[in-house]
Amino acid sequence: MEKWKCSICGYVYDPAQGDPTSGIPAGTPFEKLPDDWSCPICGASKDNFERI
Ligand SMILES: [Zn+2]
Repeated sequence: MEKWKCSICGYVYDPAQGDPTSGIPAGTPFEKLPDDWSCPICGASKDNFERI
């Protein structure tokens, strides 16, 4: 699955790991994240992420 990077702080969303701090289970693709999901580091919205 594709990883996505926050263009603000450089955090990388890895679908294989999900985002446990936000209750996102491992195996969740970026496209399936809720619209109100935000970067766990800097709080940027999904719009600020780019595919890597
Ligand atoms: Zn960020």
